[in-house]
Amino acid sequence: MEEETYTKDEKELFVLLKFFKNYNSNYIPVNEDEKKMVENNIRDYQKIEDDVIEVANARFENLKNYENETKKKWTTFHDVECHHCGFKTSLLPKGEEKTANGFTYFYFMCPKCNEKFDNGFPNTFKESAEYAESVYTYLDSKGPDGRINHIRLGISKGTMEEMRKKAVKLQKAVKELEKSYKKDKERYHQFAKLVADHVAFLTIEKYKFICGSKAIGES
Ligand SMILES: [Zn+2]
Repeated sequence: MEEETYTKDEKELFVLLKFFKNYNSNYIPVNEDEKKMVENNIRDYQKIEDDVIEVANARFENLKNYENETKKKWTTFHDVECHHCGFKTSLLPKGEEKTANGFTYFYFMCPKCNEKFDNGFPNTFKESAEYAESVYTYLDSKGPDGRINHIRLGISKGTMEEMRKKAVKLQKAVKELEKSYKKDKERYHQFAKLVADHVAFLTIEKYKFICGSKAIGES
């Protein structure tokens, strides 16, 4: 479903703001004070409208970016090598599955031997970071023979240091991304509440105006 730029409440608020802007624009002030009041009202209503448009558009762009990221997952080619026949090629993932170690991998279908295989890397940023850390932890710990795994496997200290740095960098990036998602979500939630409050308030005000129980500038 295509996302809309404005929420139901925001659209309702625009209608209410238009009503009050029109009301004030058509009002003929009887003195300087009233003239100023009308100008201030129009300016305030316009400011609310501009703010809502600005936030809603930024939110729309932001959500579209998240969505594109998710979509890209299935439209990005990966350089892979079939575990069964060794065929090297570039493929789109056929699907994804969670394996026994708790990570989610893409799987591919080999065009040569028709077997299913994965590329050995988790397919999310978050899981990639966890995976990088778990590999490092494994290599840095002792194996069954009491030797450190990376020494037993002939992996140099320099390579280990590179791996450690990469794992730390990935973890940091994931944390920052999660923080920014959370902040955005909270911000949009607060903003929706603010818009709903405006709608509730202006609906009552409009009712008062229509019923003729209120004069301009009175609150
Ligand atoms: Zn194959």
